[in-house]
Amino acid sequence: SSSSSLRCAVVGTATAAAETAGGGGRTRLKQLAVPPRLVDQLVEEALVWCSQHGLVVGDKNHPRSGKAPGVGLLHAPFALLPMSFPKVYWEQALELAPLFNELVHRVSLDGEFLQQTLARTKEVDSFTRRLLDIHSKMMELNKKEEIQFGLTRSDYMVDGATDKLLQVELNTISTSSNGLACGVCELHRNLIRHHQRELGLDPASVVENSAIARHAEALAAAWAEYNTQSAVVLVVVQAEERYMYDQYWITVALRDIYPLVYATLLLCHAAYARCIGISSDINNCHGFRSCTFFFLSFYFHVWGDDNSQNNGRNRAEGELRPDGTLMLNGCTVAVVYFRAGYSPDDYPSEVEWRARLMIERSSAIKCPSIAYHLVGAKKIQQELAKENVLERFLDNKSDIEKVRKCFAGLWSLENESIVSAAIESPELFVLKPQREGGGNNIYGDNLRETLIRLRKDGSNEIAAYILMQRIFPPASLSYLVREGTFVRDNAVSEFGIFGAYLRNKDKVIINDQCGYLLRTKAASLNEGGVVAGYAFLNSIFLT
Ligand code: ADP
Ligand code: MG
Ligand code: MG
Repeated sequence: SSSSSLRCAVVGTATAAAETAGGGGRTRLKQLAVPPRLVDQLVEEALVWCSQHGLVVGDKNHPRSGKAPGVGLLHAPFALLPMSFPKVYWEQALELAPLFNELVHRVSLDGEFLQQTLARTKEVDSFTRRLLDIHSKMMELNKKEEIQFGLTRSDYMVDGATDKLLQVELNTISTSSNGLACGVCELHRNLIRHHQRELGLDPASVVENSAIARHAEALAAAWAEYNTQSAVVLVVVQAEERYMYDQYWITVALRDIYPLVYATLLLCHAAYARCIGISSDINNCHGFRSCTFFFLSFYFHVWGDDNSQNNGRNRAEGELRPDGTLMLNGCTVAVVYFRAGYSPDDYPSEVEWRARLMIERSSAIKCPSIAYHLVGAKKIQQELAKENVLERFLDNKSDIEKVRKCFAGLWSLENESIVSAAIESPELFVLKPQREGGGNNIYGDNLRETLIRLRKDGSNEIAAYILMQRIFPPASLSYLVREGTFVRDNAVSEFGIFGAYLRNKDKVIINDQCGYLLRTKAASLNEGGVVAGYAFLNSIFLT
């Protein structure tokens, strides 16, 4: 069939790219060559560096590693040396970053579009329904967000068959790994600095990663826009988070960029809730004078809740003032930065949903607002890829062309002929539910069986999924290090560009790229997240 010959072409190209990578061919995403006798030494040096510089995660084998900082640490999974990356793709992704930021904003303003596009999904996916319910409440209230703030990440893979940079997805909530991505870039620079002669690369060629500095600056700018000196930034996190160090990097960066006096303010210190506060009064620096940060798990007490529901968990008191001010234990909240709330697991009871609704109803700046969150839905991504839909949101023809150029094939399951093609050649497709955080997609035989079942049932459940063209990036050999040991494996990479968008009414204050994330995984794997446990952090040098 035509799809199986497509598969041969795709696989053939990927293999050829890997094989010719050393020759004069298309050299891309290839790990820096390392003399074999040096590997063990480099791995050891890298492991020491990670331990000494906070490139760490909680060890899943340690019971408290996700709850308390400083216990049960393990180095983050990383690729030993950076990948070469073609400058054209780098520039293309940078150019796209502000376009996607603006697109998210424009789509978020069209409440009807969001509601309509997700209407059928809502019937079969209760998580999407809960989010949409909050969104429609805000529409009923005619709630206007004057200050809008997004920290995004657009993820791409290079398609080996067509040589195109194709978007995997656009994340609008809880965009993570900004801290670890900066760390691995420093790790690679350090290794190369010490072995410059053997590795034959200037450490300065490793592309600097500005993710933490820029996201911290954006958070500070959002806080400043709220314009209340005593207000705090609330960081919403999961009750248990083995990637807490990735999150701590951003508050530590804020403290470094702006020389705040560090003071710990313990609101509720317990196994369940983590709260760290930074509070100070310092000299005016970048218009940023004082700010308090709270880390808090996604549970806070909402006035009127029955105390007995508390189950002994520690809590903070949330209150919505009549004027819309969000108060937390008596502090005004300027910005709510979600590093949780993207998964149904983050809402174990009605309390969390009430907290999310309260936050949304408030005048605090939400990163993201419910509308920004919904724009990141995979179903919206699929709708935007339809003919003439981008035109509804972007005016400039050449911008539209640039954005469209990076769209892979995306289809609704209402498309019978694509469903048939996917049943016949499941290896050419990815089946995606409306979920975030990695590990949710369906591939191969599973994909085929799921499609056959859905077709047989004739159920509405098809609206819970989208189908996407599977991208086959060129593979190359890489040393991948996890839990202190390395494997040498054929690997492929996913490239993400962080973005920031801050807007007050008609004034766009920030619309920019904010550094990158390169994740490398064994070519034989389907999924690829670092947090989900599949991928390894990596960095790039441009060729
Ligand atoms: P999530 O929001 O859970 O991160 P993604 O759409 O990013 O969902 O999918 C998770 C992972 O699955 C990606 O990091 C990537 O490794 C893999 N993946 C997703 N879409 C594709 C695709 N079209 N082709 C190849 N791999 C894909
Ligand atoms: Mg995602
Ligand atoms: Mg993803």
